[in-house]
Amino acid sequence: MVTPGVIRRLEETVVNRIAAGEVIQRPANAIKEMVENSLDAKSTSIQVTVKDGGLKLIQIQDNGTGIRKEDLEILCERFTTSKLQKFEDLASIVTYGFRGEALASISHVAHVTVTTKTADGKCAFRASYCDGRLKASPKPCAGNQGTQITVEDLFYNIATRRKALKNPSDEYSRIVEVMSRYAIHNSGVSFAVKKQGETVADVRTLPNASTLDNIRTVFGNAVSRELIEVCFEDPKFAFKMKGYISNANYSVKKCIFLLFINHRLVESSALRKAIETVYAAYLPKNTHPFLYLSLEVLPQNVDVNVHPTKHEVHFLHEDSIIESVQQHIESKLLGSNSSRTYFTQTLLPGPAITSNDFIKPSAASATLPGSSDKPYAHQMVRTDSKEQKIDAFLQPINKPQEGPPTTVSTDGRTVCQDSEMEDISDIDLLAVEEAGSSNAIIQKPLHPCNDDPSSAPARKRSRVDSPGEIKEVNSSREMTAAHLPKRRIINLTSILTLQEEINNQNHAGLQDMLQNHSFVGCVNPQWALVQYQTKLYLINTTKLSQELFYQILIYDFGNFGVLKLSSPAPLYELAMLALDSPESGWTEEDGPKEGLAEYIVDFLKTKSEMLQDYFSLGIDEEGNLTGLPLLLENYVPALEGLPMFILRLATEVNWDEEKECFEKLCKECGMFYSIRKEYMLETEPHVSPNPGQQNQELGTDKPWKWTVEHVVSKAFRTLLLPPKHFAEDGSILQLANLPDLYKVFERC
Ligand code: ADP
Ligand code: MG
Repeated sequence: MVTPGVIRRLEETVVNRIAAGEVIQRPANAIKEMVENSLDAKSTSIQVTVKDGGLKLIQIQDNGTGIRKEDLEILCERFTTSKLQKFEDLASIVTYGFRGEALASISHVAHVTVTTKTADGKCAFRASYCDGRLKASPKPCAGNQGTQITVEDLFYNIATRRKALKNPSDEYSRIVEVMSRYAIHNSGVSFAVKKQGETVADVRTLPNASTLDNIRTVFGNAVSRELIEVCFEDPKFAFKMKGYISNANYSVKKCIFLLFINHRLVESSALRKAIETVYAAYLPKNTHPFLYLSLEVLPQNVDVNVHPTKHEVHFLHEDSIIESVQQHIESKLLGSNSSRTYFTQTLLPGPAITSNDFIKPSAASATLPGSSDKPYAHQMVRTDSKEQKIDAFLQPINKPQEGPPTTVSTDGRTVCQDSEMEDISDIDLLAVEEAGSSNAIIQKPLHPCNDDPSSAPARKRSRVDSPGEIKEVNSSREMTAAHLPKRRIINLTSILTLQEEINNQNHAGLQDMLQNHSFVGCVNPQWALVQYQTKLYLINTTKLSQELFYQILIYDFGNFGVLKLSSPAPLYELAMLALDSPESGWTEEDGPKEGLAEYIVDFLKTKSEMLQDYFSLGIDEEGNLTGLPLLLENYVPALEGLPMFILRLATEVNWDEEKECFEKLCKECGMFYSIRKEYMLETEPHVSPNPGQQNQELGTDKPWKWTVEHVVSKAFRTLLLPPKHFAEDGSILQLANLPDLYKVFERC
C-alpha cells in the first residue's frame, strides 16, 4: 500500500526562488524588466553591458531619477513599488511596472548591486541584495545621477535553469532583439547594448534620432527606405495606431513584427495573421513584410495585469480593432502600389563585372550548355544605340526625328552635319549667335580639334601611358594631321603632374563602360541613361562633363582654339552681375561691389597674357573678355555661367602656386563649361525651318538633349578618364541589370 505524502509548508526562500524563476526566465527577461524601470524613471540614456549572454553579468546604467536612499532598504522586497498605490490605479497606469516584482525576483536568482544617485542627493549610494534583502547598509560613493544595476551569476541557485541556458550567444541575440525593439519604440532615448570588453556596441541609437532613423540603424537601409508611415485613429473603438509598414517592394523570408500595445512589447498572433493575409496579395509567395506598430487602446480595455512573462495580449473589441487595422493597412498598400520607387546602387562595373557575369551574344552559344544557336533573351544585349532610344517612347511618332543629317548654313557655306559629326573638323569659321544674348560667338579652331578622329585614340593612349611618352604620341599625331598647325608641346612639371594624377585616378572598369556604352536617353539636363552590356546606368552629366572639360584643359593645355565673342564683354559688368547674384555670397562687409568689380578687372588684366597664351582666354586692354577656349567641337558653354566664372577666377584661384593655380583654374573652367541644369531650358529638339538662314548657330542652338547625346556623351567615350570616386559618389549609378529583371518577371 502506498501511503500519502505529508504536506509541509515550503521555506519562504524556496517559494520566492520558484516564483522568481517564473518571472525571470532568461537574461533577456531580466533586462527587459530593468530597462522598463529605467524608462519609468524618465531616463534618456540607457546602456546595457553583458557578459556570457547575460548569465555571468548584466549591467544597466541609466540617467533617470535615481532611487532615494531611504527606499534602498526595501527596494528588492516583493511588492514594493513607487508606481501603484490602490488597485483602481491599475486602470490608468502609465508606467511599465506597477507590481514591484521584478527587482525582487532578480535578487532571488542572482547577486544584485545597485548604485544610484538622485538629483538632490549629495552623493551616490551603493547597496547589495540577496534573496530580496539588503545585505548591508548602503555605502556612499561617487556616481552620476541615475541608477546602475549589476546582476551577477544569474540562476546561480537554480542548476536546472542554468543548464537549460547553456548557449550564451543565443541569449545575447535575444537581448539584442528585445533592446533594439525598445530602442525603436522609444526614439528620444539613446540605447546601447554591448558585450563586456568590446568597444563597439551591437545596438546603438542616438537621443535625437527619429523612429525611422532607429529602424534604419537596427534593420538597415534596405528596410527603412521601403517603409510607409501609418498614423490612424479610430474613434469608434477608441484606439490609435502609429508606425511603419513595408511596402509591396519589400519582402523577407520571416515576418518581422514589432508590436507595442500601450507601449508594451507584446505579441498578438491574431493581429499578425490578419495583417499577413493583407500582404499575401502583394508579396511573392512565402515572403513576408516588416511591421512596426504602436497601438494605443483605452487602458481599461486592455488587461495589463498579465503575468510579466506573458506576451500574448487580448483586448476588448479585439476583432473589430483587428479588422480596422487590416483595412487601413490595405489602403496604404494600395496607395503605395501605384507608384513604386526604385533605389539605385552605386555599383562599380569593375573587372569582376566586366568579365564574368556577361556573355556577349556572339559568345553565348559557345558558353551556354545545351543551347546550340540562340542566346537566352536575358543575355541579349543591344549593341547599336541607333536601334531604339528612350525618346522613341516619349515623342509623338510623326515628329521629325533628330539625328539624320541636319543642314545648317553659316556664312553662306552649307555644312552638312551627320549625327556622328565626323566631317566638321575642318570648318574654320562658323558664325554663331547666342539665342537671347547680344554676344555673337565665332568658333575658330586654331589647333587640331578634339573631334579629329585620329586624335581620340592618341589621347587615350597618352593618358594611360607615362607622361614621358606624350611627345611621341603627339608627334605621331602631327604626322597624321600634317596639314594642321603644329601642336605645342607642354613640358611644365605642374601640368605633367596633373596629367599623371588624372591617369592614376582612372577607374578602368568605368572607363570601359563609358567607352562602350550605348546612349539611351536624357532624363533631364543633369542625368542621362546609358546602357553597357546588360546593365542600365544613370550618369550625372553635370559631374561627368565638369570632369571632362577639366581633363581637356589639362591635356590640351596651351593648345586650344578660340570661341570668339563678336562684341567683347566688359569684365566689369560681368563681375557686377556675379556680385549681384546670391550665389556670390557677397555681404556688405566685403566692401562696395563697384570697388570689388574694379579690382577683379585690374587683377585679371595682369594675368591676361598667361590666360591668352595657355587658355585662349582673351582679355583686351580695356578689360573686355574677347574669347574663351574652344574645348570641344560644337560645344559652347551656357553663357549664364560666365559672370560667376569671372568672379571665381579672380577670387578662388591661388595664383601664387603654379600647380594649384592651373588645377583650380581648370576646375573652375570645367565647372563653367559643364552641362548645368539651371542653365538649360527644357526645349524640344529644334530643326531649322529654313536651312539657308543666316546667323544660324551651330552648337548653341542645338537643344541640350542633342548636345548631351552627340557632343558630350561622345566625348565621354574617347576623352574622359573617369576618376575612381565616380564609382562611389553617385556620379554613376547602376539602375538595373537585365538578368536580375528577368528574375523579377519570372516571379510575377
Ligand atoms: P515596479 O517596476 O513594478 O515598480 P520593480 O521591482 O521593477 O517594480 O522596481 C521597484 C521599484 O524600484 C520601482 O517602483 C522604482 O521605484 C524603483 N526602481 C527600479 N529601478 C529603477 C531605476 N532604474 N531608476 C529609478 N528607480 C528604479
Ligand atoms: Mg519594474
